[in-house]
Amino acid sequence: MIYLDHAATSPPHREVLEAVWPYLTQVTGNPSSAHEAGRAAKAGLDAARGAIAEVLGARPGEVVLTSGGTEADNLAITGIATANPRGRHVVVSAIEHPAVLETANALRGNGFAVDVVGVDADGLLDLAALDAVLRPDTTLVSVMHANNEIGTVQPLAEVSARCRALGVPFHTDAVQAAGHLDLDVTRLGVDALSVSAHKFGGLRGAGFLWVRGAVPLTPLLHGGGQERGRRSGTTDVASAVGTAVALHLAATTRAVEVPRLTALRDRLVEGVLATVPGARLTGHRTRRLPGHASFCFAGVGGETVLQELEAAGIVCSSGSACAAGSDDASHVLLATGLDPDLARTAVRFTLGTGSGGSDVDAVLAALPAAVATARGGGVR
Ligand code: PLP
Repeated sequence: MIYLDHAATSPPHREVLEAVWPYLTQVTGNPSSAHEAGRAAKAGLDAARGAIAEVLGARPGEVVLTSGGTEADNLAITGIATANPRGRHVVVSAIEHPAVLETANALRGNGFAVDVVGVDADGLLDLAALDAVLRPDTTLVSVMHANNEIGTVQPLAEVSARCRALGVPFHTDAVQAAGHLDLDVTRLGVDALSVSAHKFGGLRGAGFLWVRGAVPLTPLLHGGGQERGRRSGTTDVASAVGTAVALHLAATTRAVEVPRLTALRDRLVEGVLATVPGARLTGHRTRRLPGHASFCFAGVGGETVLQELEAAGIVCSSGSACAAGSDDASHVLLATGLDPDLARTAVRFTLGTGSGGSDVDAVLAALPAAVATARGGGVR
């Protein structure tokens, strides 16, 4: 099987599994316990938190370990917006993951005003529209670092400058960016950042929210006061260790991996556009995630193309794992102005550490026939 769905989830790295194993078999105390077993677990947890903070250029105490990206996004949006005394107004982009959009919707149900800022045809945030909705009572702006469906990387510096000027906290969902892009929170100019470990070779069900020390945060989970009272519940030390190792690996291999994946992606994009009639790239041509290539193919059922590719041994997705199987056109593609019928034909290939040139060759060999068959003009 050729696995080209790394944006949905990426297999854990061997180094992660090796680092995690002792914390599942030997160092098994509760990190809050005062005895030796607890102290050993706490030492592992402290080291992991420190390693995560180092990659972010942040303080270890600012890292709140969570069950993944969804929880980190929920905690950021609800936790920061409701703790901020400035008012009850939140701004999000139209192409956020449901973990952000639905949380903003829930706030709306609780009396918050929510403005949703649109994007252009490439998926880049409309900065003039952002300027138009920011208000003195805005409590939070949330704009993702890179989009899961179309790969577009957002102009975070421009958003940050606007938020800074008004003193509004700025959160970014960096779930797809982590593992590929720089996560230094000072350079990014953000106040909160969500990460999910399983997108870059860590474990599923693990992640964290980084929140700048001075930003007040209302907890979602109440209980024993772990994570400095910001996320109660016994901390999963093994997952934290895995996240730290995966993040460190990504940071140290990025200089080699990013150009390698970018070259593979570009060959895939150019090959598909040249060989598949009516193929259209979604997202920005260059300002996109290194291993991310997403298309629409007019006149096909996106799911049919996926089935044809799977029969050829290639697995990819229709845009987002969360929306897979749904007949609704993606809110992301609609926000870029695509016609709903065309948006329903989306196919996404996402490369990862294990992907190579032969995987791109395989797609380029199989896709023209898969699309032709899905259009009813070919035979399998
Ligand atoms: N945000 C983005 C951009 C994502 O792509 C995802 C996962 O697909 C999430 C949040 C949710 O992360 P998790 O699966 O860890 O809950």
